[in-house]
Amino acid sequence: MINQTMEQLGSSPSVIRELFAYGLTQAKIVGPENVFDYTLGNPSIPAPTKVNQAICDILTDTDSIAVHGYSMAGGFDTTRTAIADNLNRRFGTSVTAQNLFITCGAAPALISVIKALSAEPGQSEIMAVAPYFPEYRPFVENNGCKLVVIPADCQNFQIDLKEVEARLTIDTQAIIINSPNNPSGVVYTEETLKSLAEILTTKAQVYGHPIYIIADEPYRELTYGNVKAPFIPTIYDNTIVCYSWSKSLSLPGERIGYVLVPDSCENAKALYNGVAGAARAGGHVCAPTLLQKVIERCVDEMPDLQAYDENRILLYDSLTQMGYHCAKPDGAFYLFVKAPNGDGRAFSETAKMKYNLLVVPGEEFECPGYLRVSYCVSNDMIRRSLPAFQKLIDTLG
Ligand code: PLP
Repeated sequence: MINQTMEQLGSSPSVIRELFAYGLTQAKIVGPENVFDYTLGNPSIPAPTKVNQAICDILTDTDSIAVHGYSMAGGFDTTRTAIADNLNRRFGTSVTAQNLFITCGAAPALISVIKALSAEPGQSEIMAVAPYFPEYRPFVENNGCKLVVIPADCQNFQIDLKEVEARLTIDTQAIIINSPNNPSGVVYTEETLKSLAEILTTKAQVYGHPIYIIADEPYRELTYGNVKAPFIPTIYDNTIVCYSWSKSLSLPGERIGYVLVPDSCENAKALYNGVAGAARAGGHVCAPTLLQKVIERCVDEMPDLQAYDENRILLYDSLTQMGYHCAKPDGAFYLFVKAPNGDGRAFSETAKMKYNLLVVPGEEFECPGYLRVSYCVSNDMIRRSLPAFQKLIDTLG
């Protein structure tokens, strides 16, 4: 017998993947220059030269057994110390290697944290704020928790704090906060996060147990202009960070990230052990050794965001001039656009069928009536796609 939920999950590709696959097929028919694929969040700027050089140097200089061998379950002490030093320098924290568990990217980090917080399997609740990364639902539901969704604040795509307050219960273990946000591209302000922290602190006292923030931060370094994403552990003690270098160093295929459980978290030691146990139970220990060694050498590398920023400005300015409304795109590499006909799915379908313009309906992120446009693409493709956006708003607007 096969687990039905798993079979269903494995056999129904996401709409994002379906649109992407459609684009590949169409490219063979109409030519790649006539397909405008804004579907995936796959970085389009290369990994920094120092990262590629570090890979070559490590392979040349270090003995092969050490490079390809297992590390400790939670990663090398030297790598974790390098990460801790980096965080402490930038954010004034006092993190040590013992607070860090290295993972194969943000996804396994999130899964381990959620699993660790499933105190009462089937009953524990984890909140997510719409619009949200669709994988949160399987991550939460398949790790013994219920997903409670906070409806989107479509005015400015911050967090609707009244809705958070209304939906908190004694079973709430944590709220996932993803900033800069996928799919809205919005960065939550310090003011929003401080107000959220106050609500969680008050309710935690009433319920007699901590309510953690799970800060899902693969886009932390991707902000534009003067905007910076606040480092949430400095605002709220009970914050667990799930980080990844997938986007910041353009390394999504290498699978490297971490969980940070600061000492300021209530039950920090037990929580860290719970994360380690969940990683063990899920078989996600000993993140790739080569990449751990690369991160140790390159932890201070920052992405050169110029290409994304140029895309962001071109797309935002062009679409708003045409009459589209977009969330303020301060971070990540997504533009969240209001569908001019009010129906994200219908707009996406028309764009696909008429113009081979592939954008993801907001319905996929539990925010109907919007479209996610991933601008980690070539600037040239954006320019070529603009007439299609214009024709769509002329006919559907
Ligand atoms: N969280 C968010 C919001 C994401 O957008 C992604 C990937 O796109 C992930 C987590 C997973 O990242 P990783 O590739 O590090 O597993």
